[in-house]
Amino acid sequence: MSHSARITGCLTCGNDDGRFESVEHIIPAALGNTESSGLVERELTIPKGEICTKCNGQRLSRADRALIQWPPVSVFRSLGLIRRRRGGLADAVAGTAWRLVLDESDRRNFSLHVDANTSPASRRDDVARALCKIALETRWLQDHSDARSARWGPIANAAIGGELPGGLAMGLVQPASPFDIDFTPNADVLPTANETPLRFACRVEVVGLVFLLIVSTPPTQMPRTHWWTVDDDTRTLEGADLMWARFDGRAESATRLTAPNSTPANKRIVLPTVEGAHVQITPGAARDSPS
Ligand SMILES: [Zn+2]
Repeated sequence: MSHSARITGCLTCGNDDGRFESVEHIIPAALGNTESSGLVERELTIPKGEICTKCNGQRLSRADRALIQWPPVSVFRSLGLIRRRRGGLADAVAGTAWRLVLDESDRRNFSLHVDANTSPASRRDDVARALCKIALETRWLQDHSDARSARWGPIANAAIGGELPGGLAMGLVQPASPFDIDFTPNADVLPTANETPLRFACRVEVVGLVFLLIVSTPPTQMPRTHWWTVDDDTRTLEGADLMWARFDGRAESATRLTAPNSTPANKRIVLPTVEGAHVQITPGAARDSPS
C-alpha cells in the first residue's frame, strides 16, 4: 500500500484489488447519522466503490467505535437520548462518574455532575483517528482529487490505524448551556489550497459536542474548549486526562425506585452514580412542540 495508489484505489488504503461493496458512514450511524434518528434528512455517506470493504468493516470501524464510546461522547449521547441504529438507547457507563444533587424542597429540580475519562486509556488517539477519517471523507465530498492527492496521505494512513501526523491537534468544545444543544451531526473541513504539507481545520458536530481537528496550525484559546496535541516524539496525544460537566434541570417527575422496574432496557438510560445508586431517565411521551 502506498499513498500514491490512493489516486485510483481505496480512498483510505489505496488498495485496488479488494472488494468495494459497502456504503461508508462519514459520521457513525450511532451518533445520529441515520434517517431513523430524525436528526438528518440525508445520511452523510461515501457511496460504494470508493472505500474497500476491509477498511470500512475493520480498520475504520475500530476508530469509529472509539469515538462512539469515548466517555465525553457517551455522556452526551446518553443525555441526548440518541438512539442506536436499531432504535435502542445506550447507557453512558465506561469511563464516567455521575453525581446527582436533588433540591430538598422540590426533588424534581436537580443538578447533574459528571466526570469523563479522557486519559490515554480512554483511547483518545483513536478518537483523533476517527476525526482524521471524517476530515478525509468530508474533503472527498468537496473535491475528489484533492482528497486522493499525496498531501492527504498521512491523514488517510492515520484513519486506518497508522501513526498520528505531527502537528495535529484535537479540540473539544462543550455546549454553552444544557438548553442550547443541537444534536444534528455535521462535518466541515477547510484546507489551504494546493499547499504541501497540508494544513486544514475540520469541525465535527456530534451529540451536541463540537470536535475540532487542526493540522499545522497552533490551537487557539477558545471558551469551553479542551485541546490535545500530538507529541512529536511519541506521536500520541497529550492534554487533559479528565473532563467534567454540570447540568441543572427540572424533571417532569421524580420517582424513587425500590425495585428494578419493568421498563425495557432499550427504552431508558441508566446513569451509574458514584454513591452506587442509579438514576434512570425515561423519555417522556412525544409532545407537539409549539413552533
Ligand atoms: Zn481500503
